[in-house]
Amino acid sequence: MPLHARTLLGPGPSNPYPEAQAALGYPLLGHLDPVFIDVLDETSERLRQVFGTANRRTLPLSATGSAGMEASFVNTVGPGDVVVVAVNGLFGQRMTDVAARCGAEVIAVEHEWGQPVDAQRVLDAHPSPKLIAAVHAETSTGVLSDLSDLAAGKGEALLLADCVTSLGGIPVRLDETGIDLAYAGSQKCLGVAPGLAPFSINDRAWERRIEKPQSWYLDLGLLGGYAGEATGSGRTYHHTAPTGMVVSLNAGLGRILEEGLDAVHARHAEAGRLLQEGLGELGLELFAAEGHRLPQLTTVRVPEGVDSAAVRRELLERFDLEIGAGAGAYASSVWRIGLMGPNAAPDKVALVLAALKAVLGR
Ligand SMILES: *Cc1c(COP(=O)(O)O)cnc(C)c1O
Repeated sequence: MPLHARTLLGPGPSNPYPEAQAALGYPLLGHLDPVFIDVLDETSERLRQVFGTANRRTLPLSATGSAGMEASFVNTVGPGDVVVVAVNGLFGQRMTDVAARCGAEVIAVEHEWGQPVDAQRVLDAHPSPKLIAAVHAETSTGVLSDLSDLAAGKGEALLLADCVTSLGGIPVRLDETGIDLAYAGSQKCLGVAPGLAPFSINDRAWERRIEKPQSWYLDLGLLGGYAGEATGSGRTYHHTAPTGMVVSLNAGLGRILEEGLDAVHARHAEAGRLLQEGLGELGLELFAAEGHRLPQLTTVRVPEGVDSAAVRRELLERFDLEIGAGAGAYASSVWRIGLMGPNAAPDKVALVLAALKAVLGR
């Protein structure tokens, strides 16, 4: 099948940074090659920097972001444990499903889609849950939730944050905020291909994890050997590391740290501001609550009488430009436009605004 480049502004995979893309073409390393072990160690160290953590147990899990979600729950909650989940979009909903499959007693604190997490309501939902979970950047709605009030009020509970869309796009400060465990994905603002789930867990959560998780593959006790760092007992074979992907993630992270985390965040903030301003000038209405909008993922209402899918198809066919449909109940009434990783740039903003203007005839 002939392949050609598209501009991927959907919330799925974004375009990779050139360094991460190039690394996919490097000669393949063996998973036990000492050079690969060094790359894995360096990748974990780079992940600590972007996560804002000193957590020893920080590593890329060998699967997509959802595996990070799954690993978080299977390792910390079992039958009967109370889990409070802040649900303000699709990914919060998914967390309730994953937690319930662990046998947990799940309390879902529902929010209107488009609104940020109301920390007080979440904290009031139960006096002593084992775990509180929330999505930092809800990709389904384009909403940012400040998790510091949840962290301040969590008491004995562990706090889990979904950072799939926040990491590499907006500041994530696990240690400063008081987040006990978190996961991300390689393909969103980190600007790498899909396939890895950066993950971090602190000592507090590590000590309270359950003894024998139902998942063998995602059992952090066993993965400790794979990651070496986690147990201090050296490396043992657990599964074959996806070496090509780890090398690519390493290169993407190197690119981000070279530009500087603050500069990368500022670039995302500026691109998002430009896009949201431009959409307003086209007469389009933003979906996410004002003051809580993500710069890296903008949700915009499909104008009355416009066929959402037809517009997306035309953008793809005429402009090689992909934007996302809405999620859940908003599948055909909202578009989602990502400006993630290298796409957080004024030229991508200009492209999507001009293309939308042409297709919508505005
Ligand atoms: C994309 C995403 C996920 C799932 O990640 P996959 O890589 O698709 O498995 C989870 N949470 C959020 C907030 C996401 O945006």
